[in-house]
Amino acid sequence: MKELLLSVVVPCYNEEEVIPITHNRLIFVLEEITPQFELIYIDDGSQDETPNHLRQLQQHDQRVKVVFLSRNFGHQMAITAGLDHVSGDAVVLIDADLQDPPEVIKEMVNRWYEGYDVVYGVRTDRQGETPFKLWSAKAFYRMMNRLSDVPIPLDTGDFRLMDRRVVEALKIMPERDRFLRGMVSWVGFRQVAVSYQRSPRIAGVSKYPLFKMIRFAADGILSFSLVPLRIAIWVGLLTVALSFLGILYALFVRLFTLSWVPGWTISFIAILFIGGIQLIFLGVIGEYIGRIYREDKRRPLYLVRESLGFEHLSNRDYI
Ligand code: UDP
Ligand code: MG
Repeated sequence: MKELLLSVVVPCYNEEEVIPITHNRLIFVLEEITPQFELIYIDDGSQDETPNHLRQLQQHDQRVKVVFLSRNFGHQMAITAGLDHVSGDAVVLIDADLQDPPEVIKEMVNRWYEGYDVVYGVRTDRQGETPFKLWSAKAFYRMMNRLSDVPIPLDTGDFRLMDRRVVEALKIMPERDRFLRGMVSWVGFRQVAVSYQRSPRIAGVSKYPLFKMIRFAADGILSFSLVPLRIAIWVGLLTVALSFLGILYALFVRLFTLSWVPGWTISFIAILFIGGIQLIFLGVIGEYIGRIYREDKRRPLYLVRESLGFEHLSNRDYI
């Protein structure tokens, strides 16, 4: 049987404190799994010592490859860059902060041998996160599933193993708003979950402050669902129906009673109400149009400044 070539992609943004530890643990686990693996670090425009650490790791170990992006493009783009550079039969995505235990990769590989194309990690327990993050993540995944056109497994992150075929499928999905876990659900194939406990970050701080989390959630919902647009239609219809009743009432008062004082109150409220709803949904539509605009520019998803350890420079590097 052909020996498995395993690729592991690690996005890193200002992770100087964790890189050496993560690296050792990954190498330890991977050596137990297969003699053939490549460890691809994506430096997502770090401003700390991360690039130097990565450079050193690469010099000492042939199996390490590094892609330096030209600036910070964000977690999802860093992963995308990684997927474009893999050459393995199976590809694992893992965060640099060891919140996802590398030991689980063994189990993932076993499931892959059983014939599954995607093995995604499901977090049963998340230690070291704030109650707010836990609550918001839970609410988000449940809402996402109600709204989205494809079912997205609950409580999964990007920690997963994918068959090369799945990676190739992802590569031909050119969208800019990349919500990778949704995209992986969309491609289909045979998928299976493995559960694990998510540990606290070993060092450093989360690169997902509240604002970025909200953006990320919006990306997930807006790029996988037209429901917000459809709500606009229903609320619009309801509003029209209500206004119709209002019109009948106004006519009735005007024609059949003598007490038709100028209806300042009702018209004032109606204007405010309708105006408010219109503004909300103009916003929703604006979000989608903004996305169309961004897609339409056809910019590359990321730019590579330098790459180390790859045999031939891929075309991607000169985009
Ligand atoms: N990351 C990245 N670019 C960014 C933000 C994060 O490559 O702009 C990486 C980060 O180094 C880590 C992973 O993405 O390996 C997940 O980030 P983090 O642990 O900060 O997110 P959290 O686990 O808190 O959601
Ligand atoms: Mg983390």
